[in-house]
Amino acid sequence: MAKIGFIGLGNMGGPMAGNLVKAGHAVAGFDLMAANAEAAGKLGVAIAASGADAVRDADVVVTMLPAGKHVLGVWGEVLAAAKPGTLFIDSSTIDVDSARKAHEMATAAGKRAVDAPVSGGVGGAQGATLTFMCGGEDAAFAAAKPILEAMGKKIVHCGAAGAGQAAKICNNMLLGISMIGTCEAFVLAEKLGLSHQALFDVASTSSGQCWSLTSYCPVPGPVPASPANRDYVPGFAAALMLKDLKLSQDAAASAGAATPLGAHAAALYAAFEAAGHGGTDFSGIIEHLRQKAGA
Ligand code: NAD
Repeated sequence: MAKIGFIGLGNMGGPMAGNLVKAGHAVAGFDLMAANAEAAGKLGVAIAASGADAVRDADVVVTMLPAGKHVLGVWGEVLAAAKPGTLFIDSSTIDVDSARKAHEMATAAGKRAVDAPVSGGVGGAQGATLTFMCGGEDAAFAAAKPILEAMGKKIVHCGAAGAGQAAKICNNMLLGISMIGTCEAFVLAEKLGLSHQALFDVASTSSGQCWSLTSYCPVPGPVPASPANRDYVPGFAAALMLKDLKLSQDAAASAGAATPLGAHAAALYAAFEAAGHGGTDFSGIIEHLRQKAGA
């Protein structure tokens, strides 16, 4: 079993670190927020006094932080304190450029690195059912895989440094666009006097079929498990969707890709958040689109 340093013990990181403990690893954790560190302590994580202390004896270091600047800041602080060859895994959702920079910093410091963002949310973090999308060299991925398996059920090697983050934001840009498209179809159906169920029955078995419709339907009724049936309590909060859409637009600008629908989806979610709905499930944007239609 490995010695693991875990930095960032928030909504996701706390239960992920707890699952590493459950799998038999020795986990030393650090978080700036004492309450989050304490909660992880109750899951068996040994709480360290600093990030450097958490990584000092580690074979593997996992970070689960808000954004790219936090990851670069923390890695910059702790890389020198870790043993040569230590494997650094970042599971935060961050911009591709920062992810690549983090790999370069790790390599320059004589360490190995994998970017491994997740999908599956807090429920997946608690239940160890996350999907990990990984970027990095083959050997580093092979070393990371058994560690990630203690926290997730699907581990995919997407390619070289930054490829995990690239896969995550491409997928979530498509999800944001497809959710808005699905909502627009229901709003148009309402105006045309077509029932939700009738549109669902046709589109879910026709060429309009997509995950936003069949697994996460934005109107109540057709898919009982979707957040639409419980007043759009997340699920996946609109603020997190907006974060990922912004990352997709940063990446598109940096790489020179044209993503006009991604840009429009980002603008619609920004307006939804500005109207006070950042904590609403992202499928709740249907109400915002209904209001636009009425305006
Ligand atoms: P969170 O805000 O609950 O946790 C982040 C933690 O990092 C906090 O406890 C904070 O105190 C800590 N932190 C920040 N700077 C630090 C530093 N310098 N040193 C030590 N600790 C520091 O966020 P979360 O919901 O756990 O999300 C973490 C990451 O996972 C984000 O990048 C997010 O986009 C991604 N993600 C979240 C979800 C979700 O459903 N919450 C799903 C998929 C991906």
